[in-house]
Amino acid sequence: MSAAETRLSPRFLIVGPPGAGKGTQATQIAATYGIPAISTGDIFRANVKNETELGLKVKAIMDAGDYVPDSLTNELISDRLQQDDAADGFLLDGYPRTMQQVEFLDAHLAAQGQALEAVVQLVADRDEIVERLRKRALDQGRSDDTEDAIRHRQDVYLRETAPLVETYRERDLLVEVDGLGSIDEVGERIDAALTARGFQPVATAS
Ligand code: AMP
Repeated sequence: MSAAETRLSPRFLIVGPPGAGKGTQATQIAATYGIPAISTGDIFRANVKNETELGLKVKAIMDAGDYVPDSLTNELISDRLQQDDAADGFLLDGYPRTMQQVEFLDAHLAAQGQALEAVVQLVADRDEIVERLRKRALDQGRSDDTEDAIRHRQDVYLRETAPLVETYRERDLLVEVDGLGSIDEVGERIDAALTARGFQPVATAS
């Protein structure tokens, strides 16, 4: 597809190591393209907070910085993608994270004649991220966010999720963006990269 063609209501995914600022950028991309940002982490956290059956099952796993089993996560996302607001496009944040989730999502979308259209990867140096998160934990007095816990989440990401990026690269879906810099700088890089791929914003994020 040439850059001159426009694509409306896209199906996007944003990936990057924990602490790379995915959530913030996801909100902005979603506003720019008029699509919902769907974060499995946020949905799990809401369940933990409300002490739902799912929340009680996943709390200890999340506290340890490990991944919730694929079966639970796939079911959650399949329900969410069937809601009306996701019918014409969405931005996934934090899903898929394992190869099995990639395959589930492919099948789920294909069953509806759909597919992902771009995967935005925030690229950031591991040590810089660990340092950034350690400072944030100190500032916010989050004693649970120890350096060990932070490093563990980075390791899980590198082991489980970084390989997925190669799958999307092979499909020519990958849009790599330097994730280090201010929120606005990174946001502008994302906008420029997606526009260059022909994705047309429907609104300007303020
Ligand atoms: P996040 O806010 O995306 O970093 O997610 C917080 C936590 O939720 C993760 O550390 C996992 O325990 C769990 N989680 C979120 N998304 C997934 C997923 N796609 N697969 C497995 N676990 C997930």
